Order: sequence, then structure tokens, then C-alpha cells
Amino acid sequence: MAELTTSCIENSGGPASAQLPTIGKAKGNCIFCGHPLRYTLVDLGLSPLCENWLSEQDLHKPETFYPLHAFVCEKCFLVQVEEYVHGEDIFGGDYGYFSSFSTSWLEHAARYVETITKRLSLDSSSLVVELASNDGYLLKNFVARGIPNLGIEPAANCAAEATKLGVNCLVKFFGVETAQELRDQGQRASLLIANNVLAHVPDLNDFVAGMKILLADDGVLTVEFPHLVRQMEENQFDTIYQEHYCYYSLYSVEQVFAAHGITLFDVETLPTHGGSLRIYGRHVENEAQAVTEAYRRVMQAELEAGINDLASYACFSEKVAETKRKLLHFLIEAKRQGKTVVGYGAPGKASTLLNYCGVRTDMIDYLVDRNPYKHGRYMPGVRIPIHAPEHIDHTRPDYILILPWNLKDEISEQLAYTREWGAQFVVPIPEVQVF
Ligand SMILES: [Zn+2]
Repeated sequence: MAELTTSCIENSGGPASAQLPTIGKAKGNCIFCGHPLRYTLVDLGLSPLCENWLSEQDLHKPETFYPLHAFVCEKCFLVQVEEYVHGEDIFGGDYGYFSSFSTSWLEHAARYVETITKRLSLDSSSLVVELASNDGYLLKNFVARGIPNLGIEPAANCAAEATKLGVNCLVKFFGVETAQELRDQGQRASLLIANNVLAHVPDLNDFVAGMKILLADDGVLTVEFPHLVRQMEENQFDTIYQEHYCYYSLYSVEQVFAAHGITLFDVETLPTHGGSLRIYGRHVENEAQAVTEAYRRVMQAELEAGINDLASYACFSEKVAETKRKLLHFLIEAKRQGKTVVGYGAPGKASTLLNYCGVRTDMIDYLVDRNPYKHGRYMPGVRIPIHAPEHIDHTRPDYILILPWNLKDEISEQLAYTREWGAQFVVPIPEVQVF
């Protein structure tokens, strides 16, 4: 974990720097502790909802843009954006994100299931519950092992896909009410999983309180989320969007779970989503699971990097602005030389990046994505058309900008054949790199 010390802090001259982040004007208080939010981490201007891909007809209509402004709470150090749109309007009904379109994510899920099944000795008497189970990409591995499981997923179209895989699905938002209903039916989770959902939860305290209720007395919960330290170190500002309310360090997430009677006892650092943490938690009363050395090490590294020092958050805004300038410089030069640039992937993060940088079809001809849901649609705000990946073969672009930069190895391998006509790959984050 030595790399943690190369965070925003070190780049700005070390924690001795007395500079504080810019004072911002938040409309609300901290989503976790309720303290007034006063300090800006970064202000990304105005942005549309990043997963509202537009149809042809939508092109003739106006779009709603919301302030995209991340704050850091000076009391609990939870980084958060202000909520302008309620979760039900984003994730309920149909939702365009299907986990199963990423090969490496599927492999990641399969490996996790194998390891955790052994570690917790899960069998046909256990119950595995996954919150935000999406299209069943993970739980299907428990189905294959004959381990009882339940997915709780608010997007009906995702849950329908999961059901086809034999996953038992409840189409609902999760919180205290849903947890209590399940518990009243005698359901308690031996293993409770929440991967990449903690950022999306509009009522964080209700969600974690629900986890406390649903977890069996000797149960274990595991939660994965992108690690704030890596997001800051590597300029991953495009992971900030309306649908992501919160951005966690181990330091801040420990406080959230502790407030609801959950003790975190282990942590793993993962390469997923540009650098994530997987935390392990249990009831505070269940002392059978001792806090591991690995946990202490990661916490110590965060503290040494200044995670609980406001000055550490001061330089992020400028790092983000410089990342934008470098991307625009590359694109302007490429266009002036008469080169063609297209984008691979149309994930939510591409919307933040392209809208913040003001990149439209003047710079990028089109985007491609493996998800057929997006084909024939347009990126919100910047309105760049999205095609199937095969479109690249017809137009033979000079540069392919990989927007899900966290999957750059997987994608550049899939597109290796484009080298035939001399195409080069580009990633925008942590800074422009052509390869
Ligand atoms: Zn707070």
C-alpha cells in the first residue's frame, strides 16, 4: 500500500500544506453525519443524468442538466455530491446498465464466489443475499453450487434477466423496510453482498441499517466500492456523477458501518473499477472474526496519506482541470492533423468526462458499445451517436479513445486487429496516454 502516499497530498507538497479546499455552497448536509457541507472537492459544472441515453426523437427535445459538485465533509470525510434526482427516478423501472457485458467483471465475480464459499464454508443450509444484484452476473455462480440465494434489485429489466439464470429475485429498493419484511419471513443472510451499490444509495443510513437487520447473527457482509484514495491519486474524476452520491475511503466507510453496529474486520485491495476495496463486516457482538493485520495496514496507509486532513483534498480540483486541458490538447492536435477519433465504450463515466470537457462530434465522430440497449442512441448532453463495435471496422479510425479506461487491457486486446490499419489507442485517465 506504499502507493497511497503518492496521493493528492504528496503532489501538493505534503500534508504540511496549510491550504484548505475552496469553500463551496452546498444546499444540504452530509448524507451520513448531517454536518453542514462547506468544502469543495471538485466542481464539474453542469451535467445531465449520465445513464439517460437519448433516442432519435429525444434529439429534438431539451435536456435537464444538474450541478455536479463534489464536497468533502469536514467531520466524517465522506466525499459526496448533492442529490438532485431521487434514486427511484434513476434506478427504478428499466435501467441501461447490465453487468454481464464486461468479461473481466464476470471473471471477477466468479473468482469471488469460489473464494468466499470456501472461506465461510457456505452450503445448502446457507443463504446468500446480494443487494443490487443487477442481471444475476454474480448470484448465478451460487445457483451453480446449489447454495440458496436471493437478489434484491430495483430495476425490473435487470431482475428479469437474472430470473432467467435461475436467480431468485425481489424487485425492490433495499433499506430497513425491505430488510424487516424478509426477517419477518425468517430470512437472514449468512453472506450479504453489496458490490458497487453503496455509492448509489440516496439514504445511506437506511441502507446500512437494513444490512444490520438482514445479516444473520454469525453472518458476514462484503461490500465493494471504488477506493477514494485511488480516485484522487489517479484523477478519476469521471467516476463522479449524479447517480453516485458518495465516494468512500476505508476511514469514512468504517464510521458509517460502526454507527449501525457493524464492525469491519478485513479488507482487500482490488484492481476493479480503477482500484477498489472489498470490506468484510460482522455484527459488533460477533467477536469470532478478529480484525486482520491487512485491515490495520490499509487504515494506517490512509491515515499517513492524510485522509482525515482537509488540506489533503485541496489540490484535486486543479489536477482535474489539468487532465481536461491535456485531453483537449490531444484532441485538437489530432483533428488539426486531419485524424479521425472515435470512442470505445459509452459507460456513465464517459458522460461525465465528455460533458465536463465539452467534447462533442466536433472532436469524436461516434462511440461504440457492446450493450445493444445503447445502439442507435446518443450520449446525453454531448449527443455523440452510439453504434455497435463493428462500426469501427467500416470507418477505420486513426485513434480509438478507450472511455472505460479501467478496462483498457481487455479492450485493447479485443481491438488488437485494428492495428492492421494503424489505429492507436488512447486513454484519458489518469492523463492522456497514446499506445
Ligand atoms: Zn459527514
